[in-house]
Amino acid sequence: MNKLNNQKFLDIINQKWINKNCPMCGHNNWNFDGNIVSPMTMDDSGNIQLGGQIMPLVAMTCMHCGNVIFVNPLIIGAFENQGMDK
Ligand SMILES: [Zn+2]
Repeated sequence: MNKLNNQKFLDIINQKWINKNCPMCGHNNWNFDGNIVSPMTMDDSGNIQLGGQIMPLVAMTCMHCGNVIFVNPLIIGAFENQGMDK
């Protein structure tokens, strides 16, 4: 089950993000809603490809300037069923 563990996600981000300041405005005021989103994949004909694997992403939004950074929770091990050893 790929359910995001919000607290684990926050703990890992706080541990791994050395520079927590927004690259656009320099503030450190991020927010996220815990939803998993994914960009759509386009096939060779330019059509949206449905089905198959997706890239799971969590949107981190800078509450000062609106800049959005996407983090892949699978890579950092922030899903419920993942260990924290990554
Ligand atoms: Zn910002």
